[in-house]
Amino acid sequence: MSGPIALVDSHCHLAEPDFDADREAVLARAAAAGVTTLVCVGATGPVESNFPAVALAGRRGAVEIVATVGIHPHDAASADEAAFTTLGRLAASPGVVGIGETGLDFHYDRSPRPAQCAAFARTVALARTTGRPLVVHVREAHIEAAAILQAEGAAAVGGVIHCFTGDRDDARRYLDLGFAISVAGIVTFKNADTLRDAVRTVPLDRLLVETDAPYLAPVPHRGRRNEPAHVRLVAEAVATVRGEPLATVAAATTANARRLFTVRG
Ligand SMILES: [Zn+2]
Ligand SMILES: [Zn+2]
Repeated sequence: MSGPIALVDSHCHLAEPDFDADREAVLARAAAAGVTTLVCVGATGPVESNFPAVALAGRRGAVEIVATVGIHPHDAASADEAAFTTLGRLAASPGVVGIGETGLDFHYDRSPRPAQCAAFARTVALARTTGRPLVVHVREAHIEAAAILQAEGAAAVGGVIHCFTGDRDDARRYLDLGFAISVAGIVTFKNADTLRDAVRTVPLDRLLVETDAPYLAPVPHRGRRNEPAHVRLVAEAVATVRGEPLATVAAATTANARRLFTVRG
């Protein structure tokens, strides 16, 4: 494999106000780092939080921007009938390529767990109705999340477990359900040996990379605002952990992201 490195940041929040002051410069740095496409995930809160991401989607400059729409598990308590009606409409908007983030966060528990489970299940059903892949957020709820994905038939549309932080058994459970595993900058953190062990076990054709920017900046930017250009540092760390060339990891994760989200270009 030769030629320039091409990367997809499979999960970032470029529409967040954190980037309002310098979004064009952020995109230019992403392009310079080899990012050809970024998936702008809209669901940073309740359903209204998707509007700015949908507005950015479909832009085709130096970096292609596509979007996903969902209701974050933190805000599952807001996921009423009206919210799902709006979400269904947003899912059909131009440039929207996936449904999420959705899932379960039993670490923060910002919405009651039954509300999180109900919203997650209903979002899987929406993904199936629209035929779009799922972007799933899971913290400290891997068994419960896998059970919902299974019960709701999520394998019919597939998707990705974003910012995966589980162990190799958790990864296996999602792989068995047909899901891909996306690795974020946490893989560069000192205390992430369990994650690094899991990353070694994921087949190359199921692996994605992401920044989750503006959050979770990889080393050596840890603690500062993250941005899509840093997906290259994530890919480099994944390559090192797996003992594979960066070009191999870049080519595979880019192909996987494009296949999953059926992104052109
Ligand atoms: Zn998340
Ligand atoms: Zn996110």
